[in-house]
Amino acid sequence: MTQKIVVDFGLCEANGVCMGIIPEVFDLDEDDYLHVLQEDVTPENEEQVREAVRQCPRQAIAIEDA
Ligand code: SF4
Repeated sequence: MTQKIVVDFGLCEANGVCMGIIPEVFDLDEDDYLHVLQEDVTPENEEQVREAVRQCPRQAIAIEDA
């Protein structure tokens, strides 16, 4: 089953913690708007994505079954 990364942009305060953990997936642009560059959770990124979920101070990142 595929799992997808979902960000609640209403909660996100664009502090870049997630980008610091895995910039291949999370990117803050010049306007402090967060982009999810890669929505799929993969064997390669899963560990760091889960770390970003844990460390997000706003608990804005979730992993959902697609
Ligand atoms: S760590 Fe959380 S609050 Fe910070 S930019 Fe990422 S999603 Fe937004």
